[in-house]
Formats: sequence, C-alpha cells, structure tokens
Amino acid sequence: MKQRDLRPEFIEFVPPALEEGVLYVSMSYASAIHKCCCGCGEKVVTPLSPTDWKLTFDGETISLYPSIGNWDFRCQSHYWIRENRIEWAPRWTEAQIRSAKSFDESAKKNFYERKKLSTETPQHKGIWQALKNWAGW
Ligand SMILES: [Zn+2]
Repeated sequence: MKQRDLRPEFIEFVPPALEEGVLYVSMSYASAIHKCCCGCGEKVVTPLSPTDWKLTFDGETISLYPSIGNWDFRCQSHYWIRENRIEWAPRWTEAQIRSAKSFDESAKKNFYERKKLSTETPQHKGIWQALKNWAGW
C-alpha cells in the first residue's frame, strides 16, 4: 500500500528490522534509510552529502531533497518527502532515468574535482548552472 507520510527517527545504528512509515536518520553516518513508500519492502538508502541528498529538519518534520527515485527497484517509484509527507511524483521514462544518472555522475565528478582544485573554472560553473536549471532550483 502506498504511504502518505513518514515520521523521522534519529538513530545511531540502523535497526535490524525497519518499520514502514519511518525515516531513520543517522547523523554520525550522514545518511537516512527507509522502506520504499510504495509498500514493496525494499530498503532505500539516501546518503546525505553535497552531491547526494539534503535533509531538512525543522524540529518536527523532515524533508529530503531531491526526490527519491527508486529506479533500481522493480516498483520504480518516485516521490518527494516534504515535511513528513510523501508526494508521489510521476514515474520517469528509461531515457529520463539514463540522463539523470549520467548527469548525477558528472555533477559528482565535477564537485570533487572542484574541491580538489579549489578554483572554479568556467567549465565547472557551466555544469552547476545546468544542474540548477535541471533541478529547478
Ligand atoms: Zn517500492
């Protein structure tokens, strides 16, 4: 059954059995984990990093950015977690998934190269601008 909300639980270690409808957040491991909200039972791990997900906690509710796209699962569900609510998003086509994946890789690569170089070349700026446009920031 599709879920409509999630509640956050701040943990150190991931419990052996995950409960549905709970987003487990581990600050020490900078990641969050939950069971796929479509009810398929798959575990969804979302690492928190400058090039992965960002977690917002307002004291009561959590939001994750960007959306959760479970392309590697059979369900291929796609949803946003905003203030503990699940907002179901349309499934992506194969082509959209492919381009998002390759874009993600190049954004990561550029981010870490930029960190290493600690100088921003115009080329890197171009990628970030493209990413902003793509993500609609
Ligand atoms: Zn699922």
